[in-house]
Order: sequence, then C-alpha cells, then structure tokens
Amino acid sequence: VITQDTIDRIFHAAQIEEVVGDYLQLKKRGANLLGLCPFHNEKTPSFTVSPTKGIYYCFGCGRGGNAVNFLMEHESLSYPEALKQLASKYNIEVEETRVGNPDEHKQKVEQRESALATLAFAQRFFEDQLKETEDGKQIGLAYFKERGLLEKTIDTFGLGFAPDEWRALTDHATTSGITPDMLLRTGLAKVKNNAAEKDPEELTTDDLYDVFRDRVIFPIHNLSGKVIAFAGRELRKKENSPKYVNSPETEVYHKSRVLYGIHLAKRSIKNEGEVWLTEGYLDVITLNQSGIEHVVATSGTALTPDQIRLIKRFTDQVTVIYDGDAAGQKAAMRGTDLLLEGGLQVKILTLPEGEDPDSYCQKLGGQAFKEYVETHRMDFIFFKIQALIPENADPIKKASATRSILESIAKIPDAITRNFFLKETAVRLDTEEDLLFREIGKIRKGGAYKAAQKANLPVTPPTDEPKDPLESLHARERATMETLMVYADYPLPEGEGTLSAFLYHELEVDGISMEDPDAKTIFDVGLEILEEQGHLSFSDFVQHDKTSHLAARSLARQYPISESWEKDFEIVVKTPEKNAFKAAMENLLYLRVAFIDRYIDKNMQDLKSAESEEELADFQRIHLKLHEKRTELMNQIGAVILK
Ligand SMILES: [Zn+2]
Repeated sequence: VITQDTIDRIFHAAQIEEVVGDYLQLKKRGANLLGLCPFHNEKTPSFTVSPTKGIYYCFGCGRGGNAVNFLMEHESLSYPEALKQLASKYNIEVEETRVGNPDEHKQKVEQRESALATLAFAQRFFEDQLKETEDGKQIGLAYFKERGLLEKTIDTFGLGFAPDEWRALTDHATTSGITPDMLLRTGLAKVKNNAAEKDPEELTTDDLYDVFRDRVIFPIHNLSGKVIAFAGRELRKKENSPKYVNSPETEVYHKSRVLYGIHLAKRSIKNEGEVWLTEGYLDVITLNQSGIEHVVATSGTALTPDQIRLIKRFTDQVTVIYDGDAAGQKAAMRGTDLLLEGGLQVKILTLPEGEDPDSYCQKLGGQAFKEYVETHRMDFIFFKIQALIPENADPIKKASATRSILESIAKIPDAITRNFFLKETAVRLDTEEDLLFREIGKIRKGGAYKAAQKANLPVTPPTDEPKDPLESLHARERATMETLMVYADYPLPEGEGTLSAFLYHELEVDGISMEDPDAKTIFDVGLEILEEQGHLSFSDFVQHDKTSHLAARSLARQYPISESWEKDFEIVVKTPEKNAFKAAMENLLYLRVAFIDRYIDKNMQDLKSAESEEELADFQRIHLKLHEKRTELMNQIGAVILK
C-alpha cells in the first residue's frame, strides 16, 4: 500500500494542466484551460482544466476528476498504477507499507541487515587481500595501477582481490561467525555438487566454495553507499571461465535497480544538473579520478525502467557515452528510447573507434575529456538521423528511418519538447512539418491512447436537476453537500469556525443523514477527514479517491452551466465568504424543507387511511404543525436570499 505521505507528495507536485497537457492540446481561457474531450467525440471543446483547483471536467460527457483520475481513465490504469505513473513523472520516490505480519516484517529487516553486514565483511576481506597478500599486490594491485588508478581511487571504490583458492572467503567468514546459510543468501558462496541434496540447515563449511576466485573485485554499492553485490574480473585467462562473474540477485541486490557509482555521483549529478551514462566499472572509476564525478554505469546490462527512475530522482539531463563500435551504438539507440519515454532529455556521444570512456579519458586527461564530451555530444535526433540515414540514402530507406525517428519522438511525454523535435526533424529531413505532425499523432494514438479510447464506456450525462428543486430531497442533499465541499474551509461571516464544521453541526442537530449515494459519499469522506485532521478544504475532496470526480462535477455545477462557464469557474475562486455562507444556508434550509415535505407526504397518506375520528384529528394536527414549520423555513429562506 502506498503511504499517505507519498500520496500527499504526489498530489502536491502533480499539476493537472501538465498531466492532461501530455495527452491533448489545451488553450488558455481565462483562469482555465480548454480542449477537446478525449473521452467523447466532440467538435467544439467542452473539456475544462482548472489549474488552481487541480481538476478537469467535461461539460459534454460529465467526466471529471483530479490528475490521478485522468490517468486512470485515459490510460486504463488502476489507482495505485496512476499514482506511480505520476510519481515517476515528478521524480517522487514511492514508499509502500508492507501488509502482513509485523513480526515477519521485523524478521525481514534483521535478515537484510545481517546480509549487508556479511557483504561489508566480504568487501573488507577482498580489500585486505589486495593490499596485504603477495598475490594481491602482484596480480590485483598491479592490474589496477596499470590501468592508471591511484591508491586513493582504489580506496574510494573499495576495490579488492579474491585469491586463487576454493574457500578463502568461506573459511574466513565462518570462523568469524558468519553462517553458511548467510554466505549462500548473499551470493558469496555456492554449494558443492556432492552436497546439493543436503538440507540447507545441515550444510557445513566444507560443503561450500567461493563464488569469487582469482579475480579483481569491484564492489557494487546502493544509493546510500552500502555494499550490496560484487563483480569479479578475470585477469588470468582460464578455460571455460567468464571474463566477469557477478553476484546473483539476492534480497539486497536487484540488478535492474542499480547504477554503478551512483552513491558517489549523486551529489555531483545534482550540482552539474546532468548525469553521464557509461557502460563499464572502469569508465566510472577513471572519470571520477579525473575529476568528473557525475558518472554512473549500467555495468553491462541494458538500461532498465527502474534505473531510469533512479536517474530521474536527481536530474532529467542525460548524456549517454558509449564505445565507438557498432555494439556500443546499438546499445545507445536502445537505451535512448527508454530514456525518452521516462521524460529525460538525452544527448549521445560516440567516441572515436576503438576507444571507450576509460581509455579516452586517460588519453586526453579529465579537463580535455570533459570539453570533448561537451562539444561533441549530439542531440539524440541528430544522432539517430546521422546513424540511420547515410548521405544519398534511397527513398525507401529514408522513409523507414523517418518512421523510427518519429517513434522515438512519440515517446517524449512532454508535448512542447515533442513538437520542438518534430520541427527540427522536419528541417533535417526536408519534409513538411504537418505531415510529420499527423504521423506522430497516429503513432501516439496507436499506443496508450488507443487503449484509453477502446476503454471508453458509454457516456453518462450529468443528471439533470429536477424542475422544482423542492420536489427532490436527493437533489437538495447533493446541493448541500456540494456547497459543503466547495466552501469547506470558508470562515463563517459571523462567529468562529468554518462552513463545513457549521454544516456538519447543523445536520447533526437535525439528525439528517444523506440518502443520495453521492451526497452520502461527500458527507462521509468529509467527516472522516475533518475528524482525522481537524480541518477540511476543497482540495481534500479533490485528492480523495472517493470524491475527486464529485469535486470536479460539483465545481462545474455549483454555478449554472452557461456559455461563459470559464468565468463561472473563476467566480468560485473569487466568491466572497459571505456568498458561500449564503449558499450553504440556503441549501441547508431547502434540505430541511425537503425533509419536512417527506413527512407531509407520509402524513397525507396516513390521513387518507385514517380509521377513526380520533386518528384523523391527530393527523390533521400533525399536518398543520408540519406546514407551520415549512412556512417558517420558507420565510427563513426568503430572508437569506434577500439578505
Ligand atoms: Zn467529454
């Protein structure tokens, strides 16, 4: 379950006009924005977005709500999915509470902590091996020095060495009290074939062997700098032995969520306002040593959505630096589309053939390398055009390349950025902008947009108010609750307290509870929030998933729908407290009248079926009393209206 704190932060950050603006064109109209409704077919726009209130509403089909509702409806997402999509758009980390046994949770936390302690133990072991043993110095340290690394850098990254033995780490760890089970769970050891059948609890040290042997070791850290995994690089070529051995997925290591070097780079990424993305461990280490700290690596894996979210927490500017070979270029292309989809601004640098960031930075030196990157990196569109459309390309090739470029552009969530690149592409390809614009519309419609259109359910028009409002108790209930909602935190003109507190008090005195389902929802949600936090405002209703669409609808209905409804939206913002109170009083009194009318109706039925003179007299007396009360209420209404 997503925590309330996270939900609050998402709603605080989410701008309705930006969220909606990702999907349709909006034009400014007074304080609001106006566009063609994506949920029903229309030729004249009746879809309104109110940035100040954080809601949208369609006067055509009656759909409305907050930013989350819009995504739910438009993208066919569930409530948590929509929240998560917004969180990602606004770089908000989503915190979720665990459901289930608290003891289980505690146990998990303890397990995790001992796993991290074991990994830290292993890191110190590998580091000692590198610095204190003959093999470590002659093979491991010599390699790092040959690659140009300084002692200081080796310390900063915690580099190490695993000796050419089957159980060096396992023996050292178990004599220090680490269980075989923990070594297995952290991916540091494996079970020998002849012990594979054994019950895990009965495994002894002799049944295990080290995963990392005869390799230099690169510890992999999480965001806060804790060691969560290792990568071991082979130095002496052996048969059937891979160049790199990596920790498996464990309870603390999820490969797809980690970026190598992020714990050292994060501050610099914020300062520089951008991140450089490379492929290898040594790329990050060498650049860091050369004073370029805003660098991370995907370390061999293709870029994942989780990694992109991690980047987005710090910056939205990415420069992808890949090796100057065909494989590097392919990887760069693949990563780019995902980055664009994540709403990041992407530049690409291809290094001269045969070079990687590590080697080229060593060659040029830090300052010159930085300048090289800054002057040679290319916007991704130009990169793609250059890579896909060679000089004198034939028309067929050009067409398919254009399609691929447009598909990339279509992935950019922000409309303004998208249009910018579209214009650029038109110029570059010497094509008509309109043509590309239509094409991109088709591509976008083919994706998420299409799903939303498909999910378009039959349109329910907003319920019409009955001709004589006094006839409908439910309509009155809704009107009263809508007033309560829209003006919840308005101060009373005289005395203390807010309008919502006043209305709740009055309704409680009357013993009136809501029968209309919408009115009841507003009543219950408002009361719950009021009791929980001691105050209540319209935005509380906008945020609450049970009332968000009602909030949008009520704001639209609070004032009669007319041609100048944009202005009506503004009136709500500007209505003086006195008028709000007047509207609330009026609605409350009408609600009381409607309530009384029901008694009158019921009493009339009784009166007609009275079986004795006595009974008849009783019902007549009640009838007069009810009418007296009704007249009194009507007079009060008159007084309120004329005030
Ligand atoms: Zn509509």
